[in-house]
Amino acid sequence: MTGADGSAARLWELPIETGEAPENGATFDAIVVGGGPGGSSAAGYLAMAGKKVLLIEKDVWPRDKVCGDAVGGKSLGHVAALGVKADLEASPHFRVTGIVFSSPKGNRVRVPLPEEAVERLEAGYALPRAQFDALLFDRCQGMVREAGGSILQGGDVRSILFDDGNGGEDPGEGSGDARHASGVVVRIGGRKGEEFTFYTKELVGAAGYRCPVAKSVVESSYNEPMVDRDHYCGGYREYWRNVKDCGTNTGDIEIHFVDSVIPGYFWLFPVSEDVVNVGIGMVMSLMDKQKKKLKALQADVIANHPKFKDRFVDAEMIPGSAKGWQLPFGSPRKKSSKQPRRSSMNGVRLVGDAASLVDPFSGEGVGNALVTGEIAARHIVEQKTPLDYQDEVWSVLGPELINSYRMQKLSRRSWLLNWFMGKAERKPALQEIMTEMIASKEAQEDLHSPWFMMKTLFF
Ligand SMILES: Cc1cc2nc3c(=O)[nH]c(=O)nc-3n(C[C@H](O)[C@H](O)[C@H](O)COP(=O)(O)OP(=O)(O)OC[C@H]3O[C@@H](n4cnc5c(N)ncnc54)[C@H](O)[C@@H]3O)c2cc1C
Repeated sequence: MTGADGSAARLWELPIETGEAPENGATFDAIVVGGGPGGSSAAGYLAMAGKKVLLIEKDVWPRDKVCGDAVGGKSLGHVAALGVKADLEASPHFRVTGIVFSSPKGNRVRVPLPEEAVERLEAGYALPRAQFDALLFDRCQGMVREAGGSILQGGDVRSILFDDGNGGEDPGEGSGDARHASGVVVRIGGRKGEEFTFYTKELVGAAGYRCPVAKSVVESSYNEPMVDRDHYCGGYREYWRNVKDCGTNTGDIEIHFVDSVIPGYFWLFPVSEDVVNVGIGMVMSLMDKQKKKLKALQADVIANHPKFKDRFVDAEMIPGSAKGWQLPFGSPRKKSSKQPRRSSMNGVRLVGDAASLVDPFSGEGVGNALVTGEIAARHIVEQKTPLDYQDEVWSVLGPELINSYRMQKLSRRSWLLNWFMGKAERKPALQEIMTEMIASKEAQEDLHSPWFMMKTLFF
């Protein structure tokens, strides 16, 4: 088979063969809804533990996913554990060695990623999600089928079935603790397709920010709000060729705080083969106050901003690559007893974007999707309670999400960004701290201390 340009097609450009659909009415040890990083990892880890899994994905491969395409160091342990690292290494990718930040005034700081991590190939990558997700899904679907499970591509989960936990009637909407998930209804074959029902006592919701499983947990079962525009972000991305001063296979990714985009940022993430992911993101409640849409804001930065317009003089956008999507942040909510949002109930665990776990400062969500995919699978195997899951997710991810939220709020002030980056530009010690902050959990803990920050900033 050949690709669009006549060369041999690669795995992520081809359909993925996933075998026969299971029989209507079949029962599984676990059903995973969504085949992105969160769902693939949950299904992969469950299959590794010998569980019979049904993995349902609405799309059909090859498929795109709107993203900045940066895959941080946090993801790579899971990429390796799930057996995808060698394939990823062998496919075209951009190896990230540092992050360049710039302030609205133009102060520029380069934060190198730790050398040892770069040498061990564990610092981070940037590569199109179409490619990353296909490698991960292909590997995990293989493990699921080997363990006796099934895969459904083109399966749109329409509703969740509940009972009272003993096979009796569903106690109904709003009855939260009294209901237990018992299965899903899936439509196969598009709008006019056929509906199938599959049964399980263990459901994983991994279908992104509009996950039907998440809606039935948060909204229908507990009458809690799913979307909070103070904690959701709008994101927009385009792929460009020939952007000046971007590395080809290795180098830096760039995050720029630009006046017209604050509170949010403009990014340039090379993803190999001379292609750069160019995008922009902004908190939705703040975006509501803006006159311009993200697409227009980005077009303006590219065409007119003095720091960027020359870099785009000979560049061209890849047709069809302009797309927007939403990022549900993991920042703590004021009025919620379950942080950042309810992520479990009897027979259900939500992972990744379905649990609203995107980092509120960097916009990274792939790592947290993989991390929670593993936690969900382990909790199913060990038969832990829904509350155990909620607690472990927040104790593992909460400290860094709280910290990132603080940084996001600080970054809404242009003067502070100018001041901080002006300092960091001149102070190698501050650059080292930024490296640590990105790479090490312990250093992130230090940032909780105001004295530590004061000492570093002023002396
Ligand atoms: C513009 C933008 C830039 C971003 N940049 C970065 C970045 O650089 N690095 C980073 O780490 N993160 C980034 N993120 C966040 C990242 O994309 C997500 O956090 C990540 O994809 C979450 O993975 P997931 O598996 O939870 O959900 P998803 O990747 O959204 O996967 C969900 C899957 O569920 C499927 N699905 C949906 N509905 C149904 C249904 N009804 N039935 C069955 N299947 C269904 C979807 O087709 C999809 O395949 C960005 C996001 C955006 C929007």
